[in-house]
Amino acid sequence: MGQLFDGPCRLCGETYTGQGITSHLKRCLADHANQGALHHGLLVGVRSDGYGGRYWLYMLVRPEASLFDLDGHLRATWLESIGRPSAFDIEERQYLNTLEADEVGSDSPIRSMDTDVGSVIRPRTDFKYLYDLQHRDRFELVVYDPYPCPSSLVDDPSEADVVTVARNEAGDAECATCEGEASLICPACAEADVEEGFYACESCRDEHDEHDAELLPIVNSPRMGVGGFRG
Ligand SMILES: [Zn+2]
Ligand SMILES: [Zn+2]
Ligand SMILES: [Zn+2]
Repeated sequence: MGQLFDGPCRLCGETYTGQGITSHLKRCLADHANQGALHHGLLVGVRSDGYGGRYWLYMLVRPEASLFDLDGHLRATWLESIGRPSAFDIEERQYLNTLEADEVGSDSPIRSMDTDVGSVIRPRTDFKYLYDLQHRDRFELVVYDPYPCPSSLVDDPSEADVVTVARNEAGDAECATCEGEASLICPACAEADVEEGFYACESCRDEHDEHDAELLPIVNSPRMGVGGFRG
């Protein structure tokens, strides 16, 4: 596991560590409780390890939203929008994005994401999200209490079902060769976990010519450097 990033709370603009952000958000959401609530959403935190470190994202999720909505928000924030398969593992069941509700039997452990979030998750439960079964990206989600969703967090009311409250910022990356500011990641060096690091700047990209992977742009996503991901 790499570095746990810091990031700002969208409500107050203050930056918190990945350790402190959860308790801050509970306080800050309670402090903003009477500012034009659009709905009461469950606070859901997600964490995922990538080459760059440990990424995190907190959302308010309307209980009437579907798992498809949650999947769509995770894709839009962190993942490419091309149709890789994904799944939520919640208790003993798996909810797939590739199934419609009428394609599964009522007692099947495999379900469709066409399922209300509020019918399958509760405060103080945790669950998993899997994206791109080939690369087996795993995301750990924790459900906290419901909080009023302040209208100040929502630009477009039609997208209020799942709202980002806080997200990590990625730290500056240093070129493994010249220690200048890097803009690229070498997936081969990252996979081998080479001691000098796996970032490169444009001028030093030739240093990675012999390595068995194409250099990719640095992006604020646990998918950085994975499977040709470009953000
Ligand atoms: Zn705050
Ligand atoms: Zn360099
Ligand atoms: Zn390399």
